[in-house]
Amino acid sequence: METAVVTGGAGFLGSHLCDKLLNEGLKVICIDNLITGNVNNIAHLAGNENFKFIKHDVTNYIFIPGKVNYILHFASPASPVDYLQLPIQTLKVGSLGSHKALGLAKEKKARFLLASTSEVYGDPDIHPQREDYWGNVNPIGPRGVYDEAKRFAEALTMAYQRYHNVETRIARIFNTFGTRMRVQDGRAIPNFIMQALQNEPITVYGDGSQTRSFCYITDQVDGLFKLLMSDENEPVNIGNPEEISVLEIAKEIIMLTKSKSKIVFEELPVNDPKVRQPDITKAINKLGWKPIVKREEGLKDTIEYFKNLILK
Ligand code: UDP
Repeated sequence: METAVVTGGAGFLGSHLCDKLLNEGLKVICIDNLITGNVNNIAHLAGNENFKFIKHDVTNYIFIPGKVNYILHFASPASPVDYLQLPIQTLKVGSLGSHKALGLAKEKKARFLLASTSEVYGDPDIHPQREDYWGNVNPIGPRGVYDEAKRFAEALTMAYQRYHNVETRIARIFNTFGTRMRVQDGRAIPNFIMQALQNEPITVYGDGSQTRSFCYITDQVDGLFKLLMSDENEPVNIGNPEEISVLEIAKEIIMLTKSKSKIVFEELPVNDPKVRQPDITKAINKLGWKPIVKREEGLKDTIEYFKNLILK
């Protein structure tokens, strides 16, 4: 059996990835310091002989005995609210953490997959975003801690590929949603669902005309797995190209939850990208992947998940 290490494996994306890798017949070693991850996300894997959890901060040296075939580096705060509250940790895990994870990949002769982000494109001048666009990032703005850490991580990944011959993959992950997002996550979809289920005001930032394109978690992990197993060693966008304004998604969630919530408009965060939509031509052509879950379907599942959390 092959073995995969997932850093950030107790987080939203990481834990779904652990499930996917186990389902594909791999052994999984999950590493997480539980700053934004939660053991509840992997509790169902306790007792699974192919799964192991190590509580560790990957900005420090990572020691794993035995053979490792794949390293998937997913450790990082990922919600704008989180990385604004944890700016230094975000910079450290993107830089020092990526260095340690790549060092492990080199040592083990393992294939490395970096969880990068659409944030490398910043507030984009090109729409939709293609992988050959270099981005428009404010390095010293509040989002710079995440954006620049991920840009550095991409540069480091390419350097390990070119100079140490480590086999690497880079996923530029666009907005993704689904079960296991935290109640306090702070991102638009969990916020809106929690607010709607409790008939509280829905907080739309700015006038809500900014756009995002939301991918359901099952599609996202399928895309990530296909990228891992492909031979594409330059960045690939993984996301759902169906674009919607933030105001529209708020209305959609009110409708699906049959909520009495009213929309309130709050201040737009600094450097909040005005538009975002992945061009997924490369993923379609190179990975044979594209998302298949309709947003409404994904939202219904996510709403059920949050409903059950409230009842607990
Ligand atoms: N947003 C909002 N209300 C919220 C949370 C987020 O209007 O309660 C907006 C946010 O300003 C951004 C979009 O929704 O324009 C998506 O934000 P999110 O935090 O989900 O992630 P981002 O795409 O900015 O990384």
